[in-house]
Parts: sequence; structure tokens; C-alpha cells
Amino acid sequence: SVTSIKEAIKFAEANDAKMIDLKFLDFPGTWQHLTIPAHRLDEELFEQGMGIDGSSMRGWQSIAASDMQVRPDPTTARMDPITKLPTLSFICNVFDPITDQPYSRDPRYIAQKAENHLKETGIADTAFVGPEAEFFIFDDVRYDVTPYSSFYAVDSQEGAWNTGRNEGPNLGYKLGYKRGYFPVPPYDSLSDLRGEMAMTLEKAGIVVDVHHHEVATAGQSEIGIKYNSLLKSADDLQWFKYIIKNVARRHQKTVTFMPKPIHGDNGSGMHTHFSLWKGGKPLFPGERYAGLSDTALHFIAGILDHAPSLLAFTNPTTNSFKRLVPGYEAPIKLAYSSRNRSSAVRIPMVQSSPASKRIEFRTPDPSSNGYLAFAAILMAGLDGIERQLDPGDPVDKNIYNLPPVEADKIPSAPASLEEALACLVEDHDYLLRGDVFTEDVIESWINYKFENEIEPTRLRPTPLEYKLY
Ligand code: GLU
Ligand code: MG
Ligand code: MG
Repeated sequence: SVTSIKEAIKFAEANDAKMIDLKFLDFPGTWQHLTIPAHRLDEELFEQGMGIDGSSMRGWQSIAASDMQVRPDPTTARMDPITKLPTLSFICNVFDPITDQPYSRDPRYIAQKAENHLKETGIADTAFVGPEAEFFIFDDVRYDVTPYSSFYAVDSQEGAWNTGRNEGPNLGYKLGYKRGYFPVPPYDSLSDLRGEMAMTLEKAGIVVDVHHHEVATAGQSEIGIKYNSLLKSADDLQWFKYIIKNVARRHQKTVTFMPKPIHGDNGSGMHTHFSLWKGGKPLFPGERYAGLSDTALHFIAGILDHAPSLLAFTNPTTNSFKRLVPGYEAPIKLAYSSRNRSSAVRIPMVQSSPASKRIEFRTPDPSSNGYLAFAAILMAGLDGIERQLDPGDPVDKNIYNLPPVEADKIPSAPASLEEALACLVEDHDYLLRGDVFTEDVIESWINYKFENEIEPTRLRPTPLEYKLY
């Protein structure tokens, strides 16, 4: 892989790149890009970057201070597997040209600071992160018989599991309700498409573990990719979403990472596996519950303790909270367990080697900005370690079936984005350590979410309201 500016320039030549694509992330977490011809690639580009108008980016600068620079990170060099022209792609860091400093609201900078902070604490030097972003594949709306498919696709109880596929006459082999996991084709009609997605990911250097249909019947899918260190894993997640969406588009399909597109069927989670390492040694295996160390248990305790505010970054959309309800394998209670898929933190027990010992935080969903979500999870876990928090007893029963008296004893996740943001207002000191998140970032995140997502959603009539009223 490329480690320097010189190597990046050589890499472009070796791959006969015609275009250089500069990708960067806006505040909510969507990739943006600008493209230059390959002859413009020189050392200066890495130092000076390209100027952009920051005031047009969601959640960024006001018009008064709008000039920003995007500077390519040479170590992110990858040939883009989607473009027709051979294109070398870089992920950029965002700079303020006046101060020549990294821009404080650049999510990638926040993730970089989280990695540095981890080293400074002396607790560990590396956090490995493995996100499992589930998604739905739908037929492109233009090819759907229904004029406005999302109108119908909102409710599985009304037969919506057929609206994801428009095949003309009924050819049979329908997946049963919640039976998507995982019959062979022709029931699984998306296997080849996922295969092409997997191959395209590998072409971009992202190692695929497995791909399969998921439980929900309307084309829910999962493609597992290899874990990576925190920043790289957040970079990989951007590539993942980009490649999956573009490969779907080639086949007149459309992909959504929205956590709960269909009422009454499973939603899409982004279970996030975490482990800490120091000097090449894993810190999570030990002699305590489920083969964990005290460090791992404190890390879990930190996540559970801060979960209500943490969800403002790991479940950051109004739709996120439609997923966190009983009955769909999504977690609802802030508990941990080695068995239980209904708890927020699970300790996977399949692999036995100490190196693979990790925790799985199940609450996050793929509508989150990976850089902010992973940084925030790390900060919560580190706070648990620093304060030596105790996670209490594990809950090894199915939480969905607990009698109400017992269930009431376990704290619940916030019920809405509004609630999670209110918790973030109260609880965010743990995020400010090492200047990883700043007051400005927290405040702009909250304002952005209220103004652009919560209020507009609150003000609009919905399909269900038509039915009710
Ligand atoms: N789709 C489920 C969720 O919302 C998870 C299913 C699984 O265990 O992979 O989290
Ligand atoms: Mg899954
Ligand atoms: Mg999982």
C-alpha cells in the first residue's frame, strides 16, 4: 500500500490513471468529490489541496468564512473500481486555508484525533473496528409498478415484501415473512448481485469475509468485510457504501442504508466490533465473564453508561429509532451478554483464539457517520476504563420475553433522536477529552439534526396519517 506522496504519484503512473478523484466527507456523513486530470497530480496538490466552497457543504462554514481546502491523504490511494476512466482516488482531509489548520468539523479529523488520544492515554495504541452494515436492495422506483413505491413499502403487513421486486407475472419462489436468512436461489434472487458487489469491493482492496441475504424479505442483505484500525475502518465504510450503491445502480436497483425502511420487518443494523491492542497484544481476552479481561468489561461499562448520548452519533437519524423496538433482533436494552442478541453489547463466542476476542456493540446503524460513530464509541469505552466502571451483571435471557417487572430494571435506549440529542446536551464531557470532539462540533451536530431532520420530519404528513385520518 501507498505510504508517501512520492509513492502515490508513482502509483498513479503505474496504474495509468487518467483522472484523480478527491473524496471527502460532509458533516452528516455523505461522500463528496471533485475530479482533476492526472497531469495535475504533483507534490503541491498534497500540500495546497484544492479550494472548495465550505458554505455549500451540509453543516459546515457560514458564507462569511466559506473558503476551505481539501488535501488528499496519500496513504488512501486506491484505483476507483466504479469509474469508466481509470481513476485514482484519494480521501481528503479538510483544512482552513486562513489558519492552515485541519478543520474542526471534518469528521475524518475527529477520527484521527480519537486515534491519537487513545495513544496518549497509554491504555492502548490501536483500536480495531469491524462494522457490519446491513442494507436493503430495492428495484429502482422507475421500474416499479407502484407509482411511489415507498408509499407501499412502508408496511410489511400489507404485503410489501413483494414490492421490492417487480417481475411482471408472479413467478413464485417468494421468501416468507422474515424468512430471508438464508434460503438458496431462486428464493434469494440477489445472490449474483451481492457477488458482484463483493468482487468490486475486493478490486478496491477491501477484503470480504462473507455475503448473504438477511432476515427481512424485501431484499435485505449483508456483506461482511475485514476489520481495520479505526480511521481505516471508517474509510473502508465509505468505500463500502459507495461501491454497494453503484453496483446496484448498474442493475437498475437501488440500495438504502436507512435503518428501518419497512415497518413490521427487520431493520438494518451496523453492529460494530471493537478491540483494543497494545504493543501487538490484545487487551480484551482474560479470565472474567465470557473470557474477557477487566479492561474489556470496563470498556463495555463505558459504552453502556454513555449509551443514551452516544446514540446521537451511532443512531443519528429520526428513522434510527424505528429500528430499536422489540422483536426484530435489534437491541432495545442497555445490557450486555455473551448469548443475547437483544442486548446492546454481545460478546461473540464462536472464535476461541485470544486475538479474536472482541465486543460487539449492536445498537449502531448504518445511517451513522462512521468517523464520528467509531470515535464516540472509543471515547465512551475509554472513559469506562479510566473510571474503572463496572458493567453490572450480564443479562443472559431473551430480553424481548422478560416479564415487565424484570425488564423495567434494565435501562432502555432513548426512544427518539430528540431524546438522544437531549442526552448529548447533558453528557458529552467524555467526548471532549484530548480535544477529540469540541463544543462547537457537539453544538453544530445537535443544531444540524434539529433543523434539517427532526423539525422537517415533524412538520410533514406521512402515509400512515392519511390512513388514520
Ligand atoms: N438486522 C438486525 C438488526 O437490526 C440484526 C440481525 C443480525 O443479527 O445480523 O440489528
Ligand atoms: Mg446481520
Ligand atoms: Mg453481528
